[in-house]
Amino acid sequence: MTETIEPTAAATDWVTCGRCSALLYAKRFRCDLGVCSECGHHCRLTAPERLAQLLDEGSATLMTSPKPPEDPLDFADLRPYADRLREARADTGMDDALLQDMFP
Ligand SMILES: [Zn+2]
Repeated sequence: MTETIEPTAAATDWVTCGRCSALLYAKRFRCDLGVCSECGHHCRLTAPERLAQLLDEGSATLMTSPKPPEDPLDFADLRPYADRLREARADTGMDDALLQDMFP
């Protein structure tokens, strides 16, 4: 299923629900934690967005991790794993699939 809701739509005032196509006010949509007020569809969130929903602002500090290897599996099926990793990193803006927060 393709998600068309833009949960990071800070630059725009309106988002469209990926299920019912309702036009939603982005600020209200973010207050509703990425759930469509018309049909109840939960949009996909990024890891940083989910952490922001769960944690009080300023209660945790994101830990930096060592840069992961470029291709730890050295594996290929239909496409080389290194290509998949490169694409996922570009899509998410993250180097790894893990975020670590440190609490004081
Ligand atoms: Zn909807």
